[in-house]
Amino acid sequence: MLGNKHTQVANLKALLMRYKTTKKIQTGLLRLSELTSSVTDLANFYQQLQHVIRRYFPADNLYIQLFTQPNNRMAEYFYVDELNCSPIGQQLNKDLVEFISAIGKPILINHDHVTFRDQQQIVRRPFPIRDDHTKLVNVWLVAPLIIENITIGLVGIKGFISDNKSIVHDLELIQFIAAHISSAILRNRIHEQLQSYNDEIEDVIFARTEHLQKNNIHLRKQAEERRHVEQQLYHAAHHDTLTKLPNRSMFIERLEQSLCHLKRHPNHRFAVLFVDLDRFKVVNDTLGHHVGDQLLIEISNRLADCVRGNDILARLGGDEFVILLDSLGHDDDAEEIALRVIDTINQSFSIDGQEVHTSVSVGITICERSYNSATEILRDADAAMYQAKAMGRGRLVFFDEAMRAELLANLSLEKDLRLAVTNQQFVLHFQKINDLNHTRTIGFEALLRWQHPTRGLLLPADFIAMAEETGLITDIEYWVIEAVSKQLVTWDTQPHFKNYFVSINLSGKHLSHTKSLQQLAKCIENNFAQPQRLVLELNEQALNNNVEVTLKQLTRLKKTGVKLALDNYGSGLSSLAYLNTLPFEFIKFAQSFIHSFNRNEKNLVLAQSLVQLGEQFGFRIVAEGIETQKQLTSAIAAGCEYGQGFFIGKPELYLQDANLTDHEGNGSHCA
Ligand code: C2E
Ligand code: MG
Repeated sequence: MLGNKHTQVANLKALLMRYKTTKKIQTGLLRLSELTSSVTDLANFYQQLQHVIRRYFPADNLYIQLFTQPNNRMAEYFYVDELNCSPIGQQLNKDLVEFISAIGKPILINHDHVTFRDQQQIVRRPFPIRDDHTKLVNVWLVAPLIIENITIGLVGIKGFISDNKSIVHDLELIQFIAAHISSAILRNRIHEQLQSYNDEIEDVIFARTEHLQKNNIHLRKQAEERRHVEQQLYHAAHHDTLTKLPNRSMFIERLEQSLCHLKRHPNHRFAVLFVDLDRFKVVNDTLGHHVGDQLLIEISNRLADCVRGNDILARLGGDEFVILLDSLGHDDDAEEIALRVIDTINQSFSIDGQEVHTSVSVGITICERSYNSATEILRDADAAMYQAKAMGRGRLVFFDEAMRAELLANLSLEKDLRLAVTNQQFVLHFQKINDLNHTRTIGFEALLRWQHPTRGLLLPADFIAMAEETGLITDIEYWVIEAVSKQLVTWDTQPHFKNYFVSINLSGKHLSHTKSLQQLAKCIENNFAQPQRLVLELNEQALNNNVEVTLKQLTRLKKTGVKLALDNYGSGLSSLAYLNTLPFEFIKFAQSFIHSFNRNEKNLVLAQSLVQLGEQFGFRIVAEGIETQKQLTSAIAAGCEYGQGFFIGKPELYLQDANLTDHEGNGSHCA
């Protein structure tokens, strides 16, 4: 009975022990699960794993061997611990590793036997491998570490001995541990991979960001440079380089703005002052361009002192300045400022130690809503300025209705003249030139007329100035040359007119530059088979001040074979230098000079001297504007060889038939 009781107590104790052991192992398994689910660092994991194993499982050690590559079974690192957990540089016997890997499931090696589960059976076999190295593992509970069907290593517990009945549990236990280690390793690998991807992405992002930042800095720099260059270009395009004042384009821009403002606010008043230096050319020619430039700078400074902050002072070019007087209280204000401008410029300037005096003429236009553009305003201020110059310079003139009417007339004249050139509305009248001694006609002067469609026949005085201003004169005179050549051909077929010469009047525009001179020469060469029968008349205004330049130009013209005449000589301050230096065949005494002979004995004597000079220098004299017998007699008395005038013959239109003439007047023909 007592024995039974003892046995029962012992059994109960054993049962209690097993319950406790099982409970402990279950807690261990739970800890293991928790551990594997939170692994981030393998080394740390192994240590904690070791701790769990020692605490909850009947084992003191843990050995893990990981393969570098699944097939070469080389260990990456391995851990073993009896007392402490640290890596050891020792690898399991290679054949043992092969054996365990080949079986691919948990096994218990107990000295010379190996036990494992094959399906539901527990298989126990002799352990085939025994050598010095395997002594290390007399008793081993081992399981492969498998990730995605690949054995990546193994885990073992050394010296693990429990009773035979627990073998199944032990194998399951090591398999459970192996499964958790595998999953921990897998989790760690994924974590590491993620970490590495993150690092890579971070590197790429960092590199890109750095690159972008560099690019941004570069772009910002470029944008700044561009803005700077644009500002410079804008400034250069809108300012005058010499005086640094706003230029024409900027002034026009601001004027347009003021005009827009005026259209919206009818009470707003503003004026434009057109300021032009008087005789600036003289300063330039006599004192040189350097002084001229300095003077312009000084003038711009003085003008700047005359205007208020919101006014605009600009230089249009050359010696032309303009002032926009914004927000004008009264017209008198514009006059007051203009007077201030005139006054300040009248004060002498000191430039490079030289005292320079100058003056300005000012045209003023008060801007009204009827203006359509800035250029119209400028045009009117300019017209007023011209009026100021015409009235004797150094004064101011307000633009008025009379000027507007004149401007409009000029605009319409210009338009008509352009049409006239296109439609060839010109005719030539010819005035006889006689040999005064033999009273016979030797040639004609061709005089231009415009057959205006509504205004009738216009004389040169009505349109030549406009033709010069617009540059249309050159085309008109090409037409004259052609028309004269045709007239000569016609006359040559008629006995009375054979072998006459014809003289034409030329504008100085042909001499303004080499190209136009060449074009004129070409036109003559193309039209005249006998250029010696053509005389080109030039007056002193057409000639360059520089005699050398003029000589060059005239020499070029003479190469075409034509003859040259100096027209209108003696009408003003005629220069003697032209007579002895330039290659003129004829000098034409002006009408006023001829008319003066009867009143002024000295002029007659002067004319006689010029005739003698001509004999020496090879030019012959033509007397112009002979209107009376008395004038003819004095012209002959002066020694003039040739003559023309109403007394000899009025300019006439010669039709195809030379006998048919259309007289301009009733002057009788000489001889
Ligand atoms: P000019 O060359 O001095 O021509 C003489 C002008 O005096 C002509 O005036 C002629 O009609 C006029 N005349 C001639 N005899 C007498 C006279 O006895 N008494 C008076 N009071 N006048 C006389 P016109 O035809 O009106 O020409 C005026 C000017 O126009 C010309 O002066 C000439 O400089 C210019 N001209 C004429 N045709 C042309 C041309 O084709 N081209 C250029 N550039 N100018 C031309
Ligand atoms: Mg003439």
